[in-house]
Amino acid sequence: MLYKEPAPIKDRENPFESMMSRFNIAAEVLGLDEEVYNVLKSPTRQVIVNVPVTMDDGKVRVFEGFRVMHSNILGPSKGGIRYAPDVFLDEVKALAAWMTWKCAVVDIPYGGAKGGIICDPYSMSAGEIERLTRAYTSSLVDIFGPDQDIPAPDMGTGPREMAWLMDEYSKTKGSTTHAVVTGKPLVLGGSLGRVEATGRGVMVSAMAAMEKLGMDPHKSTAVVQGFGNVGSWAAKLMAERGVKILGVSDVSGAYWNDKGIDIEEAIEYKNAHNGRLEGFTGAEQMNPDDLLTAKVDVLVPAAVEDVITIHNVDKIQARLIVEGANGPTSYKADNIINEKGIMVVPDILANSGGVTVSYFEWVQNRMGFKWTLDRVNERAERIMNEAFERVYAASQKYNVPMRIAAYIVAIDKVAMTYKYRGGF
Ligand code: NAD
Repeated sequence: MLYKEPAPIKDRENPFESMMSRFNIAAEVLGLDEEVYNVLKSPTRQVIVNVPVTMDDGKVRVFEGFRVMHSNILGPSKGGIRYAPDVFLDEVKALAAWMTWKCAVVDIPYGGAKGGIICDPYSMSAGEIERLTRAYTSSLVDIFGPDQDIPAPDMGTGPREMAWLMDEYSKTKGSTTHAVVTGKPLVLGGSLGRVEATGRGVMVSAMAAMEKLGMDPHKSTAVVQGFGNVGSWAAKLMAERGVKILGVSDVSGAYWNDKGIDIEEAIEYKNAHNGRLEGFTGAEQMNPDDLLTAKVDVLVPAAVEDVITIHNVDKIQARLIVEGANGPTSYKADNIINEKGIMVVPDILANSGGVTVSYFEWVQNRMGFKWTLDRVNERAERIMNEAFERVYAASQKYNVPMRIAAYIVAIDKVAMTYKYRGGF
């Protein structure tokens, strides 16, 4: 299954600037000193490669690719590789920085990175994608490494590409190196529980936030935007804990049932219909714009960027927003959300269950030992709960919203580590 991460829309907020706006607020609250601010505000390394690939028609095409390491202060940098026609450097820089903050929030020993290749994988043959993946890996073979920079899937790439990357790297280095990449197929050292890890983390964050707000899951309702990997798992696991999921949506539309949608049935339907809910009869169709502003207790955006904006934020009725997607809330909507008293569990906390289990995959590869699913889930749940408590405590201490608190926790950890390690 491909891990598809929706690309940003160009006339929306620049993702790097949007990330920096929050970073700046947190840095000010924290009183971050100028030296550390300057270290963290720009990526450590930005590499642009041009790789020639022989296409099926015998012609050679040159593809531009990026690999950005935002920071390696906490450890080797970690982050996915995106294949998309419109991937651009500022986007990769923002995604790399988000990885730094995510890893720091959940307290795993990684820095942040991200990569991308400008290409349209859906119009290329498997052979062309394989050659492109191998060429990109070969050009970055001295950058990647289990102790240096560890890629993973992102939009347009999946376990298949990670297997090619691992193989190319291993051949060049002359030894099988599973831990150079995560998100591999299970037979090649992938971890049990990785597929559902992000949705599970969203559910754990939602339960923790509901407890703080005094909300009983069995008496609460929710809507979930996006019914892919993250959204469907989050909906299923929240429903299992008693939350009534009144509405869900995907690219085909939005679906509503006053009595609660049977999520198992919806997942079965989607799996049998090319990943889409179109034609699902267990709910009524509704206007997708109304889903986000519906009268429910919890809103889980788990699809694309910038869906909660100054254009709809006034109408949002949920008390709690749990961000499964990366960047679903535009920077400009933050203030209104705060004024309305809505609690937001921000993306860098709520969706970090994925990178947490990627970290477990790397640990297992290095141990040469496979953990059971129960062990993976139990440890991931503990890490997510501890991260939630750290962020909640920071929000109380500094009297700031959870989003800024998450940045504070992350920046503080990276800054302290930098102080101990020192510069030049
Ligand atoms: P996916 O491709 O599996 O699913 C995306 C879903 O969103 C699909 O159901 C699609 O139909 C739906 N969708 C697309 N545009 C929509 C729209 N405008 N309105 C409503 N639904 C729409 O992707 P995913 O892996 O579930 O990722 C979803 C989000 O979670 C992304 O922002 C991604 O960056 C983030 N995320 C994913 C992971 C992971 O491990 N998969 C980890 C961290 C963050």
